[in-house]
Amino acid sequence: MSAQKGEHLVIIGGDAAGMSAAAQARRMRPDLRITAFEEGPYTSYGACGMPYYIEGLIEKPENLIARTPEAFKKKNDIDAHVLHRVEEIDLKKKTVLVRDMQEDKTFSQRYDLLHIATGALPIRPKLPGVNAEGIHSLSIIPDSVKIHQEIEERSPQRAVVVGGGYIGLEMAEALLARGLEVSLVELMPQVMSTLDEDMAGLVAGTLKEMGVRLYLDEGVESFEISNGRVAGVKTAKQLLPADLVVLGIGIRPNTVLAKEAGVPLGETGAILVDDRMRTEVPDVWAAGDCVESHHLVSGKKVFIALGTVANKTGRIAGINLGGGDARFPGVVGTAITKVGETEIARTGLNVREAEKLGLDYLTAFNKGRTKARYFPDSGPIAVKVVAEKGTGRFLGGQIVGAVGAGKRIDVFATALHAGLKVSEMMYLDLAYAPPVSPVWDPVLVAVGKLAAKVRLE
Ligand SMILES: Cc1cc2nc3c(=O)[nH]c(=O)nc-3n(C[C@H](O)[C@H](O)[C@H](O)COP(=O)(O)OP(=O)(O)OC[C@H]3O[C@@H](n4cnc5c(N)ncnc54)[C@H](O)[C@@H]3O)c2cc1C
Repeated sequence: MSAQKGEHLVIIGGDAAGMSAAAQARRMRPDLRITAFEEGPYTSYGACGMPYYIEGLIEKPENLIARTPEAFKKKNDIDAHVLHRVEEIDLKKKTVLVRDMQEDKTFSQRYDLLHIATGALPIRPKLPGVNAEGIHSLSIIPDSVKIHQEIEERSPQRAVVVGGGYIGLEMAEALLARGLEVSLVELMPQVMSTLDEDMAGLVAGTLKEMGVRLYLDEGVESFEISNGRVAGVKTAKQLLPADLVVLGIGIRPNTVLAKEAGVPLGETGAILVDDRMRTEVPDVWAAGDCVESHHLVSGKKVFIALGTVANKTGRIAGINLGGGDARFPGVVGTAITKVGETEIARTGLNVREAEKLGLDYLTAFNKGRTKARYFPDSGPIAVKVVAEKGTGRFLGGQIVGAVGAGKRIDVFATALHAGLKVSEMMYLDLAYAPPVSPVWDPVLVAVGKLAAKVRLE
């Protein structure tokens, strides 16, 4: 890139929030020099697809890559350097210290504008034996390649998944599909801690039906090792034999660089940004899993690390870095996954969260069908909704059900963005035809029940 071009935007992190910012900034400002540093071997990869690659639904990891550094150069005139780790940010000098991991040398790179998109890191518990071979986290593509390779080459028989969040569930399904016996250990008395206990119970039922051995309310204490490899998982109650272990016990924002440099963090421990994705330091921006968000329903700051948010906040940062004015309204906590044939979705506040905020709430529950009852592959769907007592303000919803159930959560997410009351949602003009829905959609039936409760209070 020619040196006489305009300002230099340097980006740390070459995935969703980094590269969507790069692409937007390029659209806005053709004169900007843009350089991205990514410590891993890929740019713009779909981490969300990794469990399905391990399962065998996706043929090769390269299929998960949306755009390579070569394509970024050719299509967007962006210099993206993989295997380049930023080791330090000097806010005074406006430089970053970069390690070229292939050449094993470091160099200093000046910036005019800096965008931090370092994502999140998996939590690895400091338990005896945790670093043994065969114990994996799943965060970046090389992690999935390692697990895939191990299944192919070592033919493990017994897997233990630690953690019953969405990554744990998706991995349990993938490993079952690869023919392993799967045990899932969860410290909490329920899987999917973002759901209420009753809805999580439906998910647990599905897991058991699929053949997952579920151990709830059971903490892992250590790992048994034999010849350097994991041989078992010791919980407070038993020893589970294991040839392969996947840890899915949560993530934390990757803020090491930002913190050491003096970029202020927020109350959640993630980087503090305004609605334009500006940090508190002039010319330093941040987006994606490393920043905290404003929750539109609770009004609180939250750390929600999802690709949906990372792509949007990256885009907003890019528009603003390019001289535009875009603002991120905030999140409502929408998430979806599936295990087997069961789709699981949630948005807004669940009962636990409403209680924590001291809100007076009412709930309603509806069990219905995904399609017209007489339709051949109509399946079950359970919907739970929460509203504020008195005002009837819609606070959140959860859905567990057959294929076609989960994406109905988007109706609830939209209602939360609009700040609707349940009485205003009862007659929403939702689509109907027998192959896709009953004439009264199950989400509307749940809302109707809740509206009746609100009226009677
Ligand atoms: C298994 C799995 C399944 C998922 N499924 C879903 C899903 O179904 N739906 C959903 O919405 N979200 C899902 N997610 C979450 C989603 O992938 C993330 O929210 C999203 O990738 C965040 O994008 P990001 O750019 O903020 O961070 P990341 O994708 O983490 O990218 C940050 C990048 O920065 C690089 N980096 C970090 N530090 C440095 C440094 N010092 N120097 C250079 N580079 C650095 C990292 O190598 C990384 O590539 C899933 C995640 C995983 C792991």
